[in-house]
Amino acid sequence: MHTDTITSPELAWQQEALCAQTGADFFFPEPGSSVREAKRICGLCPIRAACLEYAMNNDERFGVWGGLSEKERLELRRTSR
Ligand code: SF4
Repeated sequence: MHTDTITSPELAWQQEALCAQTGADFFFPEPGSSVREAKRICGLCPIRAACLEYAMNNDERFGVWGGLSEKERLELRRTSR
């Protein structure tokens, strides 16, 4: 889980976060490296929709959130306007 960027106590849904059990390294890959593994974990995560919504609402720029890379979220933001 992205605990370094999320501190708010009302975010109880994050207790279900699958990435909390796998470590953050997958989710903040080095520039240019693959996000495939992170996306695979997101695909199994029970709170994927909430996570993606959180990232969109809070304009999270870095890392994989809700199964989408930062580039993909940017795309989504553009197309959903
Ligand atoms: S959707 Fe992905 S990034 Fe979001 S909480 Fe689940 S595993 Fe973590």
